[in-house]
Amino acid sequence: MTEHLDVLVVGAGLSGIGTAAQLRKQHPHRSLAVLEMRDVSGGTWDLFRYPGVRSDSDMFTLGYRWRPWRGEKALADGPSILQYVRDVAREYGVDELIRYRQRVVRADWDSATARWTVQVETPDGPHEISAGFLLGCTGYYDYEGGYAPVFPGQDEFAGQVVHPQQWPEDLDYTGKKVVVIGSGATAVTLVPAMAPDAEHVTMLQRSPTYILSAPGRDPIARRLQRLPERIAYPIVRWKSILIALASYQLSRKRPDVLRSFIRKNTIKALPPEIDVDQHFKPTYDPWDQRLCLVPDGDLFQALRRGTASIVTDTIETFTETGIRLTSGEEIEADLVVTATGLKILPFGGITLGVDGQDVKVHDTMAYKALMLSGVPNFAYTIGYTNASWTLKADLVTEYVVRLLRHMDEHGHRQVVAERDPAVGERPFMDFSSGYVLRALDEVPVQGDRAPWLLKQNYVSDVRTIRRDDIEDGVLRFA
Ligand SMILES: Cc1cc2nc3c(=O)[nH]c(=O)nc-3n(C[C@H](O)[C@H](O)[C@H](O)COP(=O)(O)OP(=O)(O)OC[C@H]3O[C@@H](n4cnc5c(N)ncnc54)[C@H](O)[C@@H]3O)c2cc1C
Repeated sequence: MTEHLDVLVVGAGLSGIGTAAQLRKQHPHRSLAVLEMRDVSGGTWDLFRYPGVRSDSDMFTLGYRWRPWRGEKALADGPSILQYVRDVAREYGVDELIRYRQRVVRADWDSATARWTVQVETPDGPHEISAGFLLGCTGYYDYEGGYAPVFPGQDEFAGQVVHPQQWPEDLDYTGKKVVVIGSGATAVTLVPAMAPDAEHVTMLQRSPTYILSAPGRDPIARRLQRLPERIAYPIVRWKSILIALASYQLSRKRPDVLRSFIRKNTIKALPPEIDVDQHFKPTYDPWDQRLCLVPDGDLFQALRRGTASIVTDTIETFTETGIRLTSGEEIEADLVVTATGLKILPFGGITLGVDGQDVKVHDTMAYKALMLSGVPNFAYTIGYTNASWTLKADLVTEYVVRLLRHMDEHGHRQVVAERDPAVGERPFMDFSSGYVLRALDEVPVQGDRAPWLLKQNYVSDVRTIRRDDIEDGVLRFA
């Protein structure tokens, strides 16, 4: 007999654990399980093991709204975040709901029975589960491997090439010449973390990114430490939310002001011999791509000390001893780290089917950026690009809790967002980062108006997701 569950959560990372914790609390009568393909929980915060791995958004908003982040650091290290997520799983009894080594590969909705049939790969062979509601908390990238372009001459290179997503546990880079290729959050984390032990670390970027120093410990959070947690946490959270939102809004309305602010801070932090225009002046506006925060200016300090340097150029070819650049310059290397990014994989690679038809994700429109048009009883968590992921994840959870309650009250078993042909299409993410552009054809589109438009704005989403009526004329219940 196929086992049936009321709600099935896929993924035991920050989103899946948060969702399961709240569903267990708010809907205790519903049967619930979390299927996780790996051996352990924590998702991103367990997978990534490179030196210095940390958050690049503040922990008061990367923490759940309903379970304060109690660590000292505003930008926290990976192991502390993993501990926090696992503590929550234990405290809320989610531990008992997680089933490991269960990879969901396919899910088919049948309107006649109002059920999902979910195909799962397990070490004991394929397995089938039926569910009333499916939640995709699978993150946004491929766990099998990151984006790793092959460079000319890479085979000639006598040293080691490593991608941060597959960091070898025993990799010893003490006294080695390291080149980190990339300019994103991972590269700016790796460079200062490796610099103290390596002989030298060179950050090699094709083009610059906006980089801004942020206090590793939040001064306001420290000052409010004496207040009870239930008062201090919301204050610090809202302070972080509003500052992030204001910076994003400023970047849209007056990019010149933010550009000049970042530039002044960068000049102040850098040694005079480093050319700010060459290495720290992107061609795009702040927040067209994710802005990189560095705690207490650690990257700039490594550049000042001379233990790290920055080169902006393109790779002509790897050589036996390093990398030759288009300018003719050669950088010697024993170890090259390709911090070239992630491969986006929507919904953990799960193929969805509705009444016998496979769903082409790109043909669907995202509803409130948490459901797909034409796909019943399915919700997913994809966080913000310009603010902490968990802000959105919490809203998705709250919405699903409300939606299920509404369905209970009205005796509904099926809910689907019905697409309106009059609503125009827009790309799912308004972001120019390479990893986003590479994946636009694989993700849903969004619409040109509410509730199909994702604004990347927590404050407005609080209204549309937390407060607006469930019955909005777009959702069809049966
Ligand atoms: C290095 C790094 C740093 C980051 N820093 C920040 C930050 O500072 N702030 C921020 O807001 N965001 C950050 N992010 C984004 C980050 O991914 C989110 O913050 C958050 O951890 C996502 O949680 P999640 O549970 O949604 O996804 P994940 O953490 O990716 O977890 C998804 C889980 O689903 C499982 N899974 C996937 N597919 C399947 C399947 N088919 N079947 C079964 N199980 C499946 C995976 O094994 C995994 O356990 C960072 C990402 C990376 C890679």
